Amino acid sequence: MAIQLFVPTFDVDACLSEIRECLDKGWTGMGFKTVEIEKAWCQYTGFPYSCYINSNTAGLNMAVEILKMQNGWVDDDEIITTPLTFVSTNHAILLGEMRAVFADVDDTLCLDPEEIEKKITDRTRAVMYVGFGGNTGRYEDVVALCKKHNLRLILDAAHMAGTRLNGVIPGREADAVIYSFQAVKNLPTGDSGMICFMDEEYARIVRKLAWLGINKDTYTRTVSEGGMYKWKYDVEYVGYKYNGNALMAAVALAQLPHLDSDNAYRRQLSQLYTEGLITCGDKVKLISVPEGCESAQHLFQIMVEDRDGLMAYLNSHEIYPGVHYVDNIEYSMYRYAEGTCPNARYASDHIISLPLHMRLTREDVQTVVDTILSFVNYRMKI
Ligand SMILES: *Cc1c(COP(=O)(O)O)cnc(C)c1O
Repeated sequence: MAIQLFVPTFDVDACLSEIRECLDKGWTGMGFKTVEIEKAWCQYTGFPYSCYINSNTAGLNMAVEILKMQNGWVDDDEIITTPLTFVSTNHAILLGEMRAVFADVDDTLCLDPEEIEKKITDRTRAVMYVGFGGNTGRYEDVVALCKKHNLRLILDAAHMAGTRLNGVIPGREADAVIYSFQAVKNLPTGDSGMICFMDEEYARIVRKLAWLGINKDTYTRTVSEGGMYKWKYDVEYVGYKYNGNALMAAVALAQLPHLDSDNAYRRQLSQLYTEGLITCGDKVKLISVPEGCESAQHLFQIMVEDRDGLMAYLNSHEIYPGVHYVDNIEYSMYRYAEGTCPNARYASDHIISLPLHMRLTREDVQTVVDTILSFVNYRMKI
């Protein structure tokens, strides 16, 4: 049977029972289960403020906008970011009318703090950091760097649901932390996400921005007036319709209790991949995970010289890996940074994400490992 990259797995009974509550109550929009998932997420992560939204992308857009507004940044001020990410990360900077300045990645595939420091100018306002594949990379060094240069820090934690650093969920040092609960992420819903803050004011604004700028949502209006729908509200911002809904929140609530055990299984499978592939020496480059990082292991990646050859070979054996990500600098609108991030370009050309999901068995991992071994040892052109 074919071995796929991602196969999202749901606790179907728990999902249906949570969804049934919404349908029985007649409340599928914002409120009810969205309030519950926000509370549950604050409890799980330790963040004081979490706002449930319809995607991580929406959260990134609002994070840039709010920080810009509250810190008095102007158009074309700079945010230092990584070229190795899903384009949402960098589009958020451009949509905020800011300049995306690319810094290179290190061997964790996260931004390299030394490379960030080289890119700081008097217009630099923030760092956009991606915990790649669930890896924290050198997050603590980046935090220290931001403190030293008085830069704000946005953490794109799309891959990091459940990641711990020295035993705690990282992010309290950041100004905004944004998770993705998209269909194939570690806590899958259909599409949704969470934006978390330490700062109450940011949280207050994000709630309005995500709801067209309206200063009271329909659910609060209904509940706080003892069931009487209070229709009067003010509109304070030109906002968006970025809110999450109760049906997606129902799925998130059903999945959250599985997040840690799912991630533990991801780490076990990753360990098996590592043990199987380390025998190849230099032919298969593994991604380093720093001491103290318990990665959510959204991805398990390797780099090989003939990536496209390996991809075709695996496909011919009904194994379907992926590539995360193409160096964003290769895309037209980011090409102005051509040649500035050689490590990211190298990774983009050589990286492969191996199958990793809850339905993958140890035997499947062995099959993938054996197939890779037979390619790199006997077929790969070097
Ligand atoms: C998935 C992903 C996003 C976007 O998340 P959505 O919830 O789909 O909007 C952003 N950044 C990274 C690194 C991602 O992997």
